[in-house]
Amino acid sequence: MHTYDAIVVGGGILGWSTAYHLQQLGCRSLLVIDVSAPAIATTGAGAGFVGAWAAGFGPAGWGVNELALEEYSIAFYRALGKRADIHLRENGNLFLARTKAGYDAYIAPMLTHALTPKDIQSFGPGEIAELSEGAIAASEVYGATYHPRGVQIHTTPAVKTMADMVCANGGSAIYGEQIVALDISGGRITGVISHNGNTYQAPKVVLACGAWSNEILGTIGQTLPIFRVVATRVIGEASGVPASLPTIMIPEQGAWIREHKGALMWGTGDGYKEVHDLPFDLPVGTRPHYPELVTSLTRAVQESFQKLFPKADLAVREWTQGVPVYTVDRTFIAGPVPQVQGLYVLTGDNEAGVTHGPALGRLVAEHVMGVPISDVDPAVFAVNRFHAMYADEVAVQKAMPPRR
Ligand SMILES: Cc1cc2nc3c(=O)[nH]c(=O)nc-3n(C[C@H](O)[C@H](O)[C@H](O)COP(=O)(O)OP(=O)(O)OC[C@H]3O[C@@H](n4cnc5c(N)ncnc54)[C@H](O)[C@@H]3O)c2cc1C
Repeated sequence: MHTYDAIVVGGGILGWSTAYHLQQLGCRSLLVIDVSAPAIATTGAGAGFVGAWAAGFGPAGWGVNELALEEYSIAFYRALGKRADIHLRENGNLFLARTKAGYDAYIAPMLTHALTPKDIQSFGPGEIAELSEGAIAASEVYGATYHPRGVQIHTTPAVKTMADMVCANGGSAIYGEQIVALDISGGRITGVISHNGNTYQAPKVVLACGAWSNEILGTIGQTLPIFRVVATRVIGEASGVPASLPTIMIPEQGAWIREHKGALMWGTGDGYKEVHDLPFDLPVGTRPHYPELVTSLTRAVQESFQKLFPKADLAVREWTQGVPVYTVDRTFIAGPVPQVQGLYVLTGDNEAGVTHGPALGRLVAEHVMGVPISDVDPAVFAVNRFHAMYADEVAVQKAMPPRR
């Protein structure tokens, strides 16, 4: 039997960010438990784009609260990047249109959006080619907006840096143990129990279990309206892609692209598949391995991307997949579980957990420590904000609003 002030179950970006902020707020005795290791599951697949998505590009419905999370997280990574090498690049975010139709549908509205950052810039083809140091062919683009304060990171060193900082300050971590039950007495959480029978006691427990959130919540009869998707990213051969390249989004192609060690890294909607349609199970704490999605992804865009980046070698050198968790209203779930005192949940990353993770971790830590909530209305992210019932993930998917 081991006793702590707080336990965080899950050592992805959301779990470690929560642990970091708990400690900052004075939580002395803290344990993070993961069935795997830090940033091994979905976080390890994250492409590391961090930006002000709520300012016009994110899902319909994102607004000032999501933007406040984003601004905090951008500042957090800038500060973390000064303490350790998290591969921070302050290159900005470029939202690109290849055609006039793409520009009119997606890019132009960003310039007039109510939350558009004041420092956003509008670029024509020549400026885009120049910004990319010649990597992008001017003839292949129509126009773009550029947000200079957006950053990019590598998720694994960022999470490991947070974990190292927490453990250096007296926090503890246990890897390789799966939590299979929650200990509850008189409506209060008292601890968690692992697969090998170990009990870890604490009056406060945060579940940051990503794609496996409903598995653990199901043990106490709770289900969140979430929907899981496998997402794929691929990396081409190193071919002199400039490290100064901003992160690039091409909404009309559902595409995102960045530089990675002199190569291009990219993904599009062609590399996604609903978990409920997979021909295999998703063991807790693992990343899927589904090569069919790599084939469909490369088949769909290779030719088009080769024209856009004529000098890049797009032969796939490596690829990885993770499982983002979407919510029925497309925003995050972060706060107390009303039915059980002392129990909190942080999930529903909506494929934006790298961007929002630091601020969401702070939000949950503030709930746990009972201090005033910074910057956001916590009701927007409340666990009990969902009033409808959804039979399964298919029903959640159908009820979700479209992307902008
Ligand atoms: C291809 C791809 C690209 C992406 N790109 C971006 C991007 O550019 N920008 C961005 O903002 N977001 C991006 N995302 C999304 C981002 O990666 C996720 O939002 C984020 O990693 C989710 O973090 P998490 O901590 O919730 O999940 P995870 O990293 O999966 O962490 C959950 C942890 O809980 C552990 N766990 C679960 N159940 C238990 C249990 N019962 N007992 C013990 N441990 C347990 C698991 O082992 C795991 O380590 C991308 C995702 C993918 C897949």
